[in-house]
Amino acid sequence: MKTLRLKMKNYVLLVFSVVLVSSCSIFGINTKRSAPKKAGKYPVFTERDSLKGFLNENRSCFDVNYYNLDIEFDVDNKSIDGKVDIHFTAQRNLSLIQLDLYENMIISKVEFEGHSLNYSRKYDAFFVTFDREIKAKENVKVTVYYNGQPQKAKKAPWDGGFVWKKDNSKKPWIGVACELDGASLWWPLKDHLSDESDSASMSFTVPQGLFCVSNGQLESRKLRGESKETFTWKVSNPINHYNITFYIGNYRTFQIPYEKDGITHQLTYYVLPQNVKTAKSHFRQTNDMLHFYEETFGDYQWFDDGYKLVESPFAGMEHQSAIAYGDKYKNNYRGFDYIILHESAHEWWGNSVSVGDFADIWLHEGFATYSEALYVEEISGYKAYLNYLYTYSLYIKNKKPMVGPRDVKYWTYKDSDPYMKGALTLHSLRSTINNDKVFFDILKTFHIENSRKIVTSNDFLKLVNLKTGQNYNWFFTQFLMNRKPPKFNYSLVYNQEKKTIVLYYKWVNVNSNFKMPIDVYIGNKLTRIYPTNETKEVDLPVNTQEFAVDKLNFYMTIQEYDFEDFSAE
Ligand SMILES: [Zn+2]
Repeated sequence: MKTLRLKMKNYVLLVFSVVLVSSCSIFGINTKRSAPKKAGKYPVFTERDSLKGFLNENRSCFDVNYYNLDIEFDVDNKSIDGKVDIHFTAQRNLSLIQLDLYENMIISKVEFEGHSLNYSRKYDAFFVTFDREIKAKENVKVTVYYNGQPQKAKKAPWDGGFVWKKDNSKKPWIGVACELDGASLWWPLKDHLSDESDSASMSFTVPQGLFCVSNGQLESRKLRGESKETFTWKVSNPINHYNITFYIGNYRTFQIPYEKDGITHQLTYYVLPQNVKTAKSHFRQTNDMLHFYEETFGDYQWFDDGYKLVESPFAGMEHQSAIAYGDKYKNNYRGFDYIILHESAHEWWGNSVSVGDFADIWLHEGFATYSEALYVEEISGYKAYLNYLYTYSLYIKNKKPMVGPRDVKYWTYKDSDPYMKGALTLHSLRSTINNDKVFFDILKTFHIENSRKIVTSNDFLKLVNLKTGQNYNWFFTQFLMNRKPPKFNYSLVYNQEKKTIVLYYKWVNVNSNFKMPIDVYIGNKLTRIYPTNETKEVDLPVNTQEFAVDKLNFYMTIQEYDFEDFSAE
């Protein structure tokens, strides 16, 4: 630095041929990574949001064990009528609990020990008062009778609700998607992500002639008079309540065997009649995907509940053991079906390892999106993996930190950063650790140790620190808590006296201890350098014809400056 300050007037800016190191997979997409000056705004959170998102004392006081849904569908009226048994264990002595059901739905009765209880409603919550004190550790059953016309989806699966469609033969084809809106849009429960029931039973009564698919195994079919049939499904594992679902339609079914460790499981498919032939061949790819995920992240957790893909009247959703598939049997340019790949990844990331607050939703979506890239690497090699992620990096908005506000159930599908930036965070972590054995051990261990559990971003950070033997807080603080991407600033200056090109470089928009390395091309040679937020300099051979920053291995923005501007920033 010292030498150069004196020589400022003598320097000649060199125009290097900048090699665009990546981008062979970018077709007409803006190739600039976004880093807006203005931060995105959060909505003003209200009591309604807190009632949904905060684990207040009227919710933390009980732990749900089991839900038993018994619901009849009135297809003509687009309404439902039913009851839900909620079995829970009191965590302390209590006389009041909060449950949740959208305010447009009608509650007719809350029953406990054979008689009705008082309740009051506020927004999408309701408060049940017991007529005796429930003792700590006591197991209790409350039954809620209710009915109504559930919210219709504006844009399923993102803007959630019921989807009432007809198939080609004008037969009803109905489903629900409620990840963001919550299961309480159609049935009463403790609608907080942190409390999964240990198992659940779903009895759905539908017009006779239609089939109803739900999670888990089909326990029974019973005719109700001449025009209705009840399908009872049972899921015997912990389940996110937004995953509890139904599909009603004129379904046909078939199975494809899946071998694992000498055991044959049956993967089951439910599709509309006209698609049976196409589906039989299209869904064969699922076996390879599941094998890859099992190999990479550990065993599929729900074979006792089965693995099902169900043709749905919307694009897709990770409904546990009964995944919604609505991708029209199309493969992408890489030769696989994105929906099968992405939604199946959620069986590991989201369904087995789950978050308790949408603040950490990148642990579902970022991990599932990154799983896609790993599969691309598996089938098409590392270069294809890099290009897949590079394309995703161009969709990152950087308007808000990836970890959002807690206790208000906030997440908007309009911000795709938990997907794309989540995936690029894992990719940059892999490049930083620079040891695939350690990195893949972290992923697998994170799944195996937290299978069927609720996790936070901090749990992942702790595991990374443990497995690497280093402190990666600086990395996660940047990627999860700082909305701005790390920015690599550099300047190339010709020093006449030394007859060298001097590379000046530093990180900006980073925390003071941020130390992610990056790779640069000097000539044809890929070299790793270690910028910090202090300016560093290095002499490059004067005959270097090409200098370029590799854009593929680490997520960041890059800017080259004249030296004066570089020093100023
Ligand atoms: Zn997803």
